[in-house]
Amino acid sequence: MGRTHALTGWCAGLALAPVLGAGTIHQAVVFGATTAGFALLPDLDHPGATASRLLGPFTGVISWILRRVSAALYALTKGPRDEKVTGKHRHMSHTVLFAAGLGAATTAATSAWGPWAVAGVVIFGLLLAEGVLGDWLMPVSGVAIVWWVYTAHDELGQLDQVSGYLGYAVAVGCFVHCLGDALTKSGCPFLFPIPIAGETWYEIRLPKFMRFRTGKNVENRLIFPVFVILGVLLVPGVWEFTTSTAERLFEPPTAQRANP
Ligand SMILES: [Zn+2]
Repeated sequence: MGRTHALTGWCAGLALAPVLGAGTIHQAVVFGATTAGFALLPDLDHPGATASRLLGPFTGVISWILRRVSAALYALTKGPRDEKVTGKHRHMSHTVLFAAGLGAATTAATSAWGPWAVAGVVIFGLLLAEGVLGDWLMPVSGVAIVWWVYTAHDELGQLDQVSGYLGYAVAVGCFVHCLGDALTKSGCPFLFPIPIAGETWYEIRLPKFMRFRTGKNVENRLIFPVFVILGVLLVPGVWEFTTSTAERLFEPPTAQRANP
């Protein structure tokens, strides 16, 4: 489901941000919002997906191109044992190669145009997320943007700092989406074009007994709530605040007497 894709993308982005050097909360939030948004992008290859209808003709055209190119690539490269399908949905945009390519294109754009390209990528990511998660995200991201601009000091500098590695956020977002699809029933042709068992588009998936259907109880009652908690705790500063508050609350009374 879309919201789980976005939420897992957000968590992956926040976990990865400090590793890549997005040290401040402002840079981490930009990075996480991008992974969250782009964790929804691969499904632009589905005409009925919310993401495809999001910006009307604009995403409609992207969706159309994505489906045509994917189908052409599939017809051209499918192996002897690949399924007899059109190859439009859940093919090209659901591969590691696509994630890496889109990441590289983003890096090229952000290195050429700096902070403005970063802002464009993040806003596109937010719009993708809003299209899937619902209109409530619009005022929330509006407030977040006002907070961001008001507290960031040197906004363009902060965005410029992220420009070197925002491509990773885009690639990781797409990759996390594929991982999510691989956990559902039909799998994901991750490793295209590496031939596996006569298929160039071999769907990587869990063994049958471990698969779960999207939208079912496991996702709603277990996976989603766990990632909501994780998504809050991973925001820079929240974990430190939680542990220090807990320490203060549960400090043994003897320790208080020892330090008057
Ligand atoms: Zn998908």
